Amino acid sequence: METSVKVFTQISEFFDYLGADQAASITEVLAPATLDSDPKFPFICSRHYADLIKKSAEPEALMREVLPLMAEREKVPGFVDDPVGDLPAGKSDCVIQKYDKRALVVSTATCGMRCRFCFRKNYPFQNIPDIAGHVGNWLDTHTDIWEVILSGGDPLTLGPGEFRDLVETIAVHGSVTTLRIHTRLPVIRPDIAMQHFELLRELPARFECVLVSHVDHPDELDEESQMVFGHLRFSGWTLLNQSVLLKGVNDNAATLEKLSHKLFTQGVLPYYLHQLDHANGVAHFEVDDDRARELIAEIRTRLPGYLVPKLVREIAGEKSKTPI
Ligand SMILES: *Cc1c(COP(=O)(O)O)cnc(C)c1O
Ligand code: SF4
Repeated sequence: METSVKVFTQISEFFDYLGADQAASITEVLAPATLDSDPKFPFICSRHYADLIKKSAEPEALMREVLPLMAEREKVPGFVDDPVGDLPAGKSDCVIQKYDKRALVVSTATCGMRCRFCFRKNYPFQNIPDIAGHVGNWLDTHTDIWEVILSGGDPLTLGPGEFRDLVETIAVHGSVTTLRIHTRLPVIRPDIAMQHFELLRELPARFECVLVSHVDHPDELDEESQMVFGHLRFSGWTLLNQSVLLKGVNDNAATLEKLSHKLFTQGVLPYYLHQLDHANGVAHFEVDDDRARELIAEIRTRLPGYLVPKLVREIAGEKSKTPI
């Protein structure tokens, strides 16, 4: 597999890589914020993702996900720093528990890219030096937890040793029967995702293992994501995907239909289609609920039931995601 180790942190460099024509056509349609980016939520894009943009028939769609736009600076009423109530649900420095007997670990502050619509855009991430120790201590006193979700940031951006320690620590807690990983790396850094999972071949023998990928557009899937998912499926993982419904990215029935089909050809079932969480600076991605319902109704007539994701919103304080 190609190792796309290059990570762009400068928009100018990223545009150079895309080539003058593509950069110019994009700049014309979108209004990039500035060539310097927001220090609180900086621009980061892997070379792999830049290559996906280059290959895409709809490069603007993917570009909107990664490129800071002027629209982010608008203050819109109702768009806040902690839209999903993460902070009141925080149980320790890195564990969030909102739902009965299941806990989510904010494993790291790092991601393979900074999605401009991220609901944790303003989350006070801290890199915890001994994440495994923290989670282990927390689980010692919470023996009712049966599912642990590794989220973030992106848990697969932890170093292989750190990641393994975290997983091993969870494994010694016999009460935990399901390990779930939420990650966007299969479409951003498939090389790193592959390295992790090659080291963790034996994992499904110890837990039910569930991978929930985050893919928003069919052009994010290619032969490299297919290798990662293929490997996991062969090792016994359950593979699901969540997407965010995003204006200008995937808010049409044809794209959603294609996404479901393509996920399925790579062994992944659509799980959730999330309505946008109202974080500061993401209002330009909003699709209203009526339109969202219309889209789901439309794809339901085109796809088998198992390829129609559940349309949900996260409402702070609720005991589950809320169907729309
Ligand atoms: C979304 C979320 C989960 C997972 O919810 P499911 O409906 O099981 O996918 C768990 N914990 C937290 C804190 C969450 O935000
Ligand atoms: S990978 Fe997930 S946590 Fe990271 S920026 Fe994207 S949406 Fe946010």
